[in-house]
Amino acid sequence: MAYKINQNCISCGACELACPVNAISMGEDRYVIDKEKCISCGTCASVCPMGAPEPDDE
Ligand code: SF4
Ligand code: SF4
Repeated sequence: MAYKINQNCISCGACELACPVNAISMGEDRYVIDKEKCISCGTCASVCPMGAPEPDDE
C-alpha cells in the first residue's frame, strides 16, 4: 500500500521536504506521490496542513 494526495492539496511543499524516501514531487495540478517509492510511513499526512495525503487502498 502507498499514500496518495487528494484534491485538498494547496501545493505548499511541506510534504515533499518531509518524505524520508523522496517519493513526493510537484505534479500537474498538485503534489503527487510515487507509489513505487512510498513506504507508507504517514509522515506526509502528519505534516500536511490540509489533510491531503491519505492511504491509497487501491
Ligand atoms: Fe513519503 Fe511516507 Fe508520505 Fe509515503 S507516506 S509519501 S514514504 S512521507
Ligand atoms: Fe499538498 Fe499537503 Fe503536501 Fe502541502 S503538505 S504540498 S498541501 S499534500
